[in-house]
Amino acid sequence: MSNPVLIIGAGVAGMTAAVELADSGIKTVLVERLSTTGGNALNLYKAFPTDDCFYCFEGNRWRPGIRKCFYRSALTEQPNIDLKMNSQVEEISGLPGNFSVKLDIGPQYVDPKKCTMCGLCIEKSKAFSLVSPQCQPQAVVYDPEIEDTGTTSAAEECPTKAINLDAKSTKKIISVSDIVIATGYHEMQPVNVDEYGYGTHPNIITQLELARILDPLGETKGVLLRPSDGKPAKRVMMVQCVGSRDENYYAYCSKICCVFALKHAAILTQDHEDVEVSVVYMDIRTYDRYEKYYRDTRNAGVEYIRGRVSRIEPQDDGSLDIIVFDSLLNKYLKFSVDIFVLSSALEPSAGSSQIISSLGLKSASGFIGAINPETEVVVGNRIYACGSALGPSEVPESVTQARAVVSKILQSKE
Ligand SMILES: Cc1cc2nc3c(=O)[nH]c(=O)nc-3n(C[C@H](O)[C@H](O)[C@H](O)COP(=O)(O)OP(=O)(O)OC[C@H]3O[C@@H](n4cnc5c(N)ncnc54)[C@H](O)[C@@H]3O)c2cc1C
Ligand code: SF4
Ligand code: SF4
Repeated sequence: MSNPVLIIGAGVAGMTAAVELADSGIKTVLVERLSTTGGNALNLYKAFPTDDCFYCFEGNRWRPGIRKCFYRSALTEQPNIDLKMNSQVEEISGLPGNFSVKLDIGPQYVDPKKCTMCGLCIEKSKAFSLVSPQCQPQAVVYDPEIEDTGTTSAAEECPTKAINLDAKSTKKIISVSDIVIATGYHEMQPVNVDEYGYGTHPNIITQLELARILDPLGETKGVLLRPSDGKPAKRVMMVQCVGSRDENYYAYCSKICCVFALKHAAILTQDHEDVEVSVVYMDIRTYDRYEKYYRDTRNAGVEYIRGRVSRIEPQDDGSLDIIVFDSLLNKYLKFSVDIFVLSSALEPSAGSSQIISSLGLKSASGFIGAINPETEVVVGNRIYACGSALGPSEVPESVTQARAVVSKILQSKE
């Protein structure tokens, strides 16, 4: 029997590659460093271009009864997918077709096959939590770093005996034929971009943080509240290109931040009453079909200011005065806002540079670089990449690239 395919990263791209390879009869080992699959998409609420709930993606024949929900999809049921959560690839050696991969497999404190998500352990101890109601595998997680007196009784009283507090991490060496890198992106924490004051005031947040506020499953249950004092927020300002198109941070355009900022502006004006939204920009890059977000939000009263933010002055009542230089009017304007949202750069995920150097791959601004632009997903001999591991990308593009990888692997196995 031929070796399985290794997929690193279980975001939308990695999950798509795993499910489609598995459905084609190819064994896969899907390695995810976190305790739930889904990657960044798990925390985004509504998805452009369709504005569907982000939890709903294509279903498949392994869970046909459930409405299109990707996160309750085949990952744990498909016999051809060996899902390794809390795990990392430590070392890769060997030759294409027969790579030798050393895995560090994290401790399995909670057995997802036994956990019924009854919530008893969460009531007993802070060390147990549910990452998201949509998490996959459907199980609570345990954090051994959180010391709590209730953990032992939680383990003893778990009705299905799903908890093993003594679980240890293990090392395993496997042979794989091909490697798919689907390690995604990270939203830059703009702490060093002094002019925007991130980290100095709780009402200065990033777009990913705004997505959590807008999400009915988030902490505020979708109600727009100021992080500083929990009071209703009525005025939101966004600023584009934070850390992108900037030689001091990332020279590239992060490509999708105009679209997701405008998606958030549309949600704020459509789903929240009397909220004023303004966007400070250099250029609005709503490529292709996404121009509709620009038109719709303009029609809904979103104010667009071409220029740059010059100063932020926190006020005693928790609001922020933002001084903006409007380059079209050639003058300074002052705005009073409740929440200031930074459209921060999308950067390569932690560990990308190590993967690039250990496998001798090309780098494209720190993301994985293609050998040849025409076959974007081929990054080495029997090594492929898809999704945001190749650079900032939207979900439809990530899924298309994952399918291109699947097609390449299937051709090579013929
Ligand atoms: C604020 C915001 C809003 C967005 N809104 C939309 C939208 O509405 N529509 C849309 O189409 N797109 C949207 N996007 C883009 C979307 O998030 C990406 O297209 C999508 O997440 C890419 O999926 P991915 O699998 O390539 O990467 P990721 O989602 O980043 O997943 C990568 C996975 O790999 C894991 N991983 C990383 N490194 C390792 C490693 N070394 N070992 C093991 N595992 C590893 C990570 O933990 C993660 O689970 C938005 C992005 C942002 C920031
Ligand atoms: S008590 Fe057991 S079954 Fe219930 S949520 Fe916790 S681990 Fe799962
Ligand atoms: S997509 Fe828009 S906000 Fe993002 S870097 Fe490009 S121009 Fe700036």
